[in-house]
Amino acid sequence: MYERCGIFLNGVYLLADSHCHFDSFKGRKELIEAYSNAGVKFVVSNATNPDSVKAHLGFADEHPSLLIALGLHPVDILSLSSEEIDSSFSIIKDNIGKAVAVGEVGLDFKYADESQRVFQEDVFRRFINLATENKKPLVVHARYAETQCLNILEELSAKNVQMHWFTNSKKTSKRAVELGYFISCGPIILSDLQTQSVVKEIPLENLLLETDCPVPFLGVQSDPSWISRVCEKVAEIKCISPEKVSLVTGKNFSKLFHK
Ligand SMILES: [Zn+2]
Repeated sequence: MYERCGIFLNGVYLLADSHCHFDSFKGRKELIEAYSNAGVKFVVSNATNPDSVKAHLGFADEHPSLLIALGLHPVDILSLSSEEIDSSFSIIKDNIGKAVAVGEVGLDFKYADESQRVFQEDVFRRFINLATENKKPLVVHARYAETQCLNILEELSAKNVQMHWFTNSKKTSKRAVELGYFISCGPIILSDLQTQSVVKEIPLENLLLETDCPVPFLGVQSDPSWISRVCEKVAEIKCISPEKVSLVTGKNFSKLFHK
């Protein structure tokens, strides 16, 4: 656990982890206590597969700071049958009121062949329409498919979009900003120079902070209490105060997730 965020503990600023996966942790009570003590007021935990969707429905009323997003991850759907996807889609649709967003959904072409890519696009379109029909924001995963994701989102006139960990390219992040989307930046920024140069150019008004925990960085498993480190690094790169980063990304979070 990371603990050095005294400036945030006065409660004036809203620190939030806009993207993580709580079903991958044991001991959620301790985790909630730790990030609350580190000044993190909200986390959005994203479901990724049918078991994860069910687990997340159990989290929905667990703690006021723990928000859920319901969706199927583009890599996870590759090992599911159409029937399994339909079944999970129905559960998500029936419980959409419990979620602050539809996610984690999107495209991941890294290991997908042509037919799997078409399959991912079909499922992604269904989730975009579900989000639009229910006025929910979308949490989008895009790997090796950044342009294709933006094309589909634009084609379907998706509004209220979080492009998660979308900090690999200045060109695609600029286009996401032009579409009015939010881009979330995670602990990769602590060590990766390319990410730092991309984030420097993303307007603060389009930025969110995330951890994608429990993804490890620099050999250590992350958790939501790392958000203050990400905040401080963004501040350093943009030559502004961490308070300003916290304030504006907090407002962005409130705007997107209505919290
Ligand atoms: Zn994720």
